[in-house]
Amino acid sequence: MTAPNIETIVSLAKRRGFVFPASEIYGGLGSSWDYGSLGVELANNIKKSWWRWLVYERDDIEGLDSSIIQNRNVWKYSGHETTFSDPLVDCRACKGRYRLDKLQDVQCPNHPEAHPGEDKECDLTEAREFNLMFRTTVGAVSTDEDESALAYLRPETAQGIFINFANVLNTSRRKLPFGIAQIGKAFRNEVTPGNFIFRTREFEQMEMEYFVRPEDAPQIHQQWIDDFHGWIQSLGISAENLKLYEQSADELAHYAERTVDILYRYFPERADEEKQWDELMGIANRTDYDLRVHSKKPEDAEGKRINPDSTDDLSYFDEATKQRFYPYVIEPAIGVNRTLLAVMMDAYTEKSNEKGETRVILKLKPELSPIKLAILPLAKNKPEIVELARKIKNDLQPSMRAVYDDTGGIGKLYARQDEIGTPFCVTVDHESLEDNAVTIRDRDTWEQERVAIGQLKEYLHKRAG
Ligand code: ATP
Repeated sequence: MTAPNIETIVSLAKRRGFVFPASEIYGGLGSSWDYGSLGVELANNIKKSWWRWLVYERDDIEGLDSSIIQNRNVWKYSGHETTFSDPLVDCRACKGRYRLDKLQDVQCPNHPEAHPGEDKECDLTEAREFNLMFRTTVGAVSTDEDESALAYLRPETAQGIFINFANVLNTSRRKLPFGIAQIGKAFRNEVTPGNFIFRTREFEQMEMEYFVRPEDAPQIHQQWIDDFHGWIQSLGISAENLKLYEQSADELAHYAERTVDILYRYFPERADEEKQWDELMGIANRTDYDLRVHSKKPEDAEGKRINPDSTDDLSYFDEATKQRFYPYVIEPAIGVNRTLLAVMMDAYTEKSNEKGETRVILKLKPELSPIKLAILPLAKNKPEIVELARKIKNDLQPSMRAVYDDTGGIGKLYARQDEIGTPFCVTVDHESLEDNAVTIRDRDTWEQERVAIGQLKEYLHKRAG
């Protein structure tokens, strides 16, 4: 079972402290969200899993953390200043403003049963291009319009990687193929943000640029599509809720030769199966476009430098063939927030207890669970039991996130942990004082097992990874 819709996750997320509406005490700020104590743990665990898989478990990828605000020329030469825009339409009837290619994601405020443009009273304008980059000014300026101080908040982390290509290459002494991985915030002034954390104006990306010989690009591209399809499933997301989508020629970004998106079934409630899917990530063959446009040497047909502002050449010299060329780039790009939403939707399960009551269980992979272990004393008025429970927690705490909770009856405490995805609960009872053992309850099966306190750490490490 998965969540029946995104709203189920919105309510769980708010109720249990995963995600809150941002600026709520001032009425909120459209489509901005804050991550609470459990949300930040889950997001961190997703990021750790990605980083470990790419940077630690392989031997060909370096990490990077580049600036959010860069020289404006980065966005001039990357093409974002002129092409990073969405088609915008206004409705003269309802005064709404919409993204032309995402009309099916919103409802007409005057006719909620229809999408904008569908009702005969809708009166959409011609589409015009709206640039998605957030503008800001750097340093003390005379006016906000001062062009010389204009800068942008990055709309993707990727460009920070391209402009550091030579730095990483020279300091790490890498040879092709190799990759650079980066996790960080990106900003897009989306025309129609929405669907909870699916589309927001501030979000986090995990991007990896894998530099290859041009002739190897198609095959390595396909390999990364397959590998990411597998990695997403390793997060506990089921294959039947994932779908590969090959972008058509007119959908491709200006830099891409081929792009395959991995879609997740974010909208299972929609009757039309085709409309249940939306993008979780994209895996693009960006060719040598980015390294070329940021380099000082390439020239146009008239022999003019295409980039007179760059001071470096981001080409690669191959010792074996004695040839110099611009590597191709394969880019798997995935959003932290969209991954978190997919992980929560896929882990969401309901189960009836022996009294016939419905309980929510978030069947997260233990590796991703915000809390790995809850320690629950069966008698909170018995000091020896409380002391032993706290000692167990303190002993385990440095190696895993554990909590102590005695604020309710045991049924309620179990339910609370099931709902936030804690894989194990440990109960300390009167017998524990005699036999030095505790009861471990499994979140998914609700089965219980007696384990010696001395064996606890090993047992949990084995089962929780
Ligand atoms: P979309 O078509 O949904 O606008 P995109 O194709 O423009 O997305 P990319 O530029 O490929 O997105 O960005 C890589 C990833 O970053 C996306 O697959 C998604 O996971 C995430 N992402 C992009 N835009 C947003 C956003 N506004 N809010 C949350 N995540 C986003």
